[in-house]
Amino acid sequence: RLNNISIQNWHVPDVEVPTYDRKALKEGIVHLGVGGFHRSHMALYIHRLLQEHDAKDWSICGVGLIKPDARMRDALQSQDCLYTLMERGIDESVTQIIGSITSYLYAPENPRAVIEKMASQDTRIVSLTVTESGYYHSEATASLQSDDPAIQNDLKNSSSPQTIYGYLYEALLIRYERGLTPFTIMSCDNMPDNGNTLKSMLIAFAKLKDSDFAAWIEKCIAAPNSMVDRVTPQTTEKDRIYLSKILGIKDNCPVVCEPFSQWVLEDNFSQGAPDWGKVGVQVVADVGPYELMKLRLLNGTHSAMGYLGFLAGYQYIHEAITDPLINKYIRTMNHEEVIPLLPKIKGIDFGEYSHTVLERFSNPAIKDQVSRICLMGSGKMPKYVLPSITEQLAKADGKYELLTLGVAGWFRYLTGYDMVGKEFEIQDVMASTLIQAAREGGRNPQPLLNIKTLFDADLRDNKEFVQKLTEALEYVSDKGPLEAINHYLRDYQ
Ligand code: NAD
Repeated sequence: RLNNISIQNWHVPDVEVPTYDRKALKEGIVHLGVGGFHRSHMALYIHRLLQEHDAKDWSICGVGLIKPDARMRDALQSQDCLYTLMERGIDESVTQIIGSITSYLYAPENPRAVIEKMASQDTRIVSLTVTESGYYHSEATASLQSDDPAIQNDLKNSSSPQTIYGYLYEALLIRYERGLTPFTIMSCDNMPDNGNTLKSMLIAFAKLKDSDFAAWIEKCIAAPNSMVDRVTPQTTEKDRIYLSKILGIKDNCPVVCEPFSQWVLEDNFSQGAPDWGKVGVQVVADVGPYELMKLRLLNGTHSAMGYLGFLAGYQYIHEAITDPLINKYIRTMNHEEVIPLLPKIKGIDFGEYSHTVLERFSNPAIKDQVSRICLMGSGKMPKYVLPSITEQLAKADGKYELLTLGVAGWFRYLTGYDMVGKEFEIQDVMASTLIQAAREGGRNPQPLLNIKTLFDADLRDNKEFVQKLTEALEYVSDKGPLEAINHYLRDYQ
């Protein structure tokens, strides 16, 4: 088994293990939502700081806030929170054991312990990767989904919260009452303006409880924005078996990711921060332009190709993106409809960035599932794809046909039937509403467009857009995704 003892008698060549004394570390970070991405990204940067720069005060206490996290608790706690990270390249891979997470708390079992841990003086940063849906943020109205039963629970029931806001609020309140400086709240989720969004949603939550305390949060809390990037698919049983063969010991929760990694982080911390720059994090004054580039060109590419690729029968992203039609569709969409909207960044060529994204997606070793990319479209499409359409519509000669085709792919996917009529599961917090609207509409996008939390009036009421979307949806439904792409690329020979 992987644990503190087995790493001391390590014998696997080319697999590095932590050389720092894990027992001597102080947990300066509490991380909410220890999924694959946190462990391939932030936990690795901290691990490198511990391994190479003696950053003893910054190990991580991982926290699972929701019931399904029991599996991660069992896996991590059974192996002293160590895990294997494999960076899988096209030609070679790097495997290492990561030791920066030093404990794990499972909130549904003991919410008080989590609140106290966050409130403790040693905790200087509370970071999060809880997926877009964990923020209860309505993109269309830029507001907190305060009617959600989980948020309602947290407003009434302070001792056993269910959402990030209940936990953050209670922990910050304790620190306030104890006269402690508040921790920094650091979102590492893929959301536009992630730090600002988290902070404003927390303030909105707090206002519903105590307006004075909300004002204190507004004044005192630092919430850096960040742009995070590293493709990290869900670990498969095959990965687990492969790794246990090369390691010769069992790891219950290994992570596999691509070799590429990027983190652009706003320099905004209330209680100090690890020396991020030493391990390759770009610490900048304004993350905005980097983030926009990534959300529109990387996440937007994923979403636009995901639904069409799924309908075309592809299982893996590398298969979908190496289909010549899909490849050309994405390259053309990015070049013609997305890149012209992006504000310039000194030293960055967006065409090159888009090219690198496509290269990364073509890596067959990653085996990123198309179905993973299709998860939670209600949280993704309004952030990654729809804003480009809205901005193109605002221009006199805006081009948005190819983006619209991506939306049509999503709408057709939401019927829950593939192109041969076989039903599949849609994983989305809004699944039942979406499926009902998609099936009611069929080749008519209106019932889905009527969902106001997803589509703002600029799109819903724009006749030209609705007409183009109807045509694209008809095309995808009648002729299939690849023929539809071929048709829409007719002007781009
Ligand atoms: P994952 O499924 O492995 O982990 C998700 C984590 O979020 C789990 O710990 C889960 O319990 C928690 N969570 C989900 N809903 C929650 C809720 N409502 N409240 C509290 N916690 C909740 O997913 P992952 O691959 O780690 O990705 C997590 C997020 O990281 C993504 O949604 C995205 O924002 C960001 N991200 C992921 C990647 C990637 O390639 N996987 C790349 C960049 C950014």
